[in-house]
Amino acid sequence: MLMLTYDQFKARADTVQAQIAAACAQAGRNPAEVELLAVTKTHPAAAAEYAARYGLRAVGENRVQEAVDKRTQCSVAIKWELIGHLQSNKAKLAVENFDRVQSVDSAKLLKHLDRAAATAGRILPILLQINAGNDPAKFGAEPADAAALLGFALDQSALQVDGLMTIAPLSDDPAVAQRTFENLRTIRDTLADKFAVPLRELSMGMSGDMIAAIAAGSTQVRVGTALFGSR
Ligand SMILES: *Cc1c(COP(=O)(O)O)cnc(C)c1O
Repeated sequence: MLMLTYDQFKARADTVQAQIAAACAQAGRNPAEVELLAVTKTHPAAAAEYAARYGLRAVGENRVQEAVDKRTQCSVAIKWELIGHLQSNKAKLAVENFDRVQSVDSAKLLKHLDRAAATAGRILPILLQINAGNDPAKFGAEPADAAALLGFALDQSALQVDGLMTIAPLSDDPAVAQRTFENLRTIRDTLADKFAVPLRELSMGMSGDMIAAIAAGSTQVRVGTALFGSR
């Protein structure tokens, strides 16, 4: 896959940041509340270097081994977040290589991550992935199970729950994504109230639907294609 030059990347990133700022203005929100996570999956390690040079805090990867390989190829000061499905048997490797895991969707995985984080002597920040669009094709806990999952997560001493994450169903109808994001926001508000925890992070919105996500309260958009081109 042909990689962009840094200047080409910078022009794309400036455009995305301007779109985020415009969406925030439209929604009456402060743009400082919405982080741009650069999704570097399938792109070479240089993509993470570009993101760091541009000043982004973190990159997102969806496979553990791919991220491990890239991290050894570049030594940039940037955080790594896991946004793809994680199997329990890879929990230890994920804890060793990621600053945060966003794709946590089962009690079994919580247990494995907690044990691995405790062994590593660290507190692992996580997000709970919720299937807020009720999409049979997506991972994520069902909304009806979210409260039980959060209760279990809050009992794990080596995990810190920062908030929730979702992926909208693929659809030609923009109302589907909008409904999904509003649903995640409502689930977050309900759970934050019930458990008296902030759950500040709402990781939602990608290249194609980040405007709707920001309108619904996203605090982090995960953007790959709009920054690095198609995969
Ligand atoms: C690939 C991916 C993204 C980025 O998608 P784009 O459409 O390329 O912006 C965001 N979130 C997750 C979970 C992904 O797997």
